[in-house]
Amino acid sequence: MKNQDIIALEKDYVMQTYGRFPVAIERGQGATLYDFEGKEYVDFASGIGVNSLGYAYPAWVKAVSDQAGKLAHISNLYYSEPMGTLSKRLCEITGMARVFYCNSGAESNEGAIKLARKYSFDKYGKGRSKIITLQNSFHGRTISTLAATGQDVFHQYFFPFTEDFAYVPANDIDALKAEMTEDTCAVLMELIQGEGGVLPLDPEYVKAVRKLTEEKDVLMMIDEVQTGIGRTGTFFCYMGYGIQPDVVSTAKGLGGGLPLGAIFASKKTEAVLGSGTHATTFGANPICCAGAHAVLDVVANDAFLQEVEKKGAYMREKIEAFGNDTILGVRGKGLMIGVIVPDGMHKELAKKMTEAGVLVLTAGVNAIRLLPPLVISYEEMDKGLAIMKKVFDGGAE
Ligand SMILES: *Cc1c(COP(=O)(O)O)cnc(C)c1O
Repeated sequence: MKNQDIIALEKDYVMQTYGRFPVAIERGQGATLYDFEGKEYVDFASGIGVNSLGYAYPAWVKAVSDQAGKLAHISNLYYSEPMGTLSKRLCEITGMARVFYCNSGAESNEGAIKLARKYSFDKYGKGRSKIITLQNSFHGRTISTLAATGQDVFHQYFFPFTEDFAYVPANDIDALKAEMTEDTCAVLMELIQGEGGVLPLDPEYVKAVRKLTEEKDVLMMIDEVQTGIGRTGTFFCYMGYGIQPDVVSTAKGLGGGLPLGAIFASKKTEAVLGSGTHATTFGANPICCAGAHAVLDVVANDAFLQEVEKKGAYMREKIEAFGNDTILGVRGKGLMIGVIVPDGMHKELAKKMTEAGVLVLTAGVNAIRLLPPLVISYEEMDKGLAIMKKVFDGGAE
C-alpha cells in the first residue's frame, strides 16, 4: 500500500476525532521511522512519549514475542509470572508499596481518583470528596479525568461531569491552602505539565505541597503518565523533586509500546482498593508486562538515566544555539523538552518540521514538544535538530 491509500481508508471509515499529520508510518528502527514509500523521519515524538526504547529494540522484541508464544492473556482471576515479578521490581525501584495495573493513563488517574475518595470515606465518612488539581493540567479523556483536567476547553459537551474537582494556579501555595478546605481528600498534579505546555513546577512549591498535604491527611497524587519511566532523567519525576507521594499514576512509557498503565500506592494507601473495589480485564496483560520488564532492564539503571539527562541537556543547548528569534525559550527536564515560540505558531512549525522529516509534538498554546525515544543516538539527534533548524530558518518547504 502507498501512503495515500492508507490515509484514504482512515478518512472513510474512522471517526474523525484526530487532527493527524499527513504521515503514514510502516516501520521503525532505533529512533528513525519510515513511511510506506521509504521516506525517513527522525522521531522526536515516540508515539507521545511511549516508545521509550525506540523501535524494534531487540531485547524488547524478544521478550514480547516469547511471551506471546507462551501466554498472551489470562485475566486477573489467575496468577501470571510477568505481573508478579514486574510488581516486585517496580515497588523496589519506586519505594511504593503496591501496584494496580490498567491499560492507559486516563484509567490510571481514574483509579487514583477512586483510591483517594475511598481512602477518605473509609477514614472520615462521606463529605470529603474534593480533589484539587492545577490549572492547565491534563489528566485524561474519561468523564472523571476530563473533570480533573484544569482546562475549560475540556469541560464541554459531555455533561454532567464528575463532581467535586477544584483547580488552582500552579506554583501558588497560598491558592492551594485557601482551596484545601475540610472537604478535600486529595491533590493530583503533574510535576511537569506535559500537554499544558511543558511547564515544570518549582521544587519549593512541590515540597510545600507535600508538607501541607501531610499535615491535613490529604493524599498527594502525582500524575507521572508522561513524566515517568525515565523520561525526565530520574525513573519517576518525583524522585528528582525529593518527595515521596501517596499515590502515583503512570502509563505511556511503561510498556515500551504496549498499553500498560499502573497506579502505585504507598504504605499508607496500599490497602484502600481492597477486594472487589477495582478491576479491569486486560490489566497486567502478560505480553505488556513482558514488554515492561524489557523497558526496566534498560531504563531502571543510574548510568542510563544520567545519559537521558545528558542527551536532554545536549538537545536544549543545540536548540538555544540555533539563535533563531522565533525561539523564545527552551524548557523541560531530561528528554521532555518544550521549545517556546510566539503564541499560535507552534502548530504550523510542527507541521513543517514533520513534512521536512522530523516528528515533533505540540503542547499548550506555544510549545513545540519533544519526547524522543530515550535510546536515541547522538547521530539521530543531530539529524533531527538540523531539520528543525532549517525549518526555523525558513529554509524548508
Ligand atoms: C497522556 C496523559 C494522560 C492520558 O493518558 P492516556 O493513555 O491517553 O489515557 C494523562 N495524564 C498525563 C499527564 C498525560 O500526559
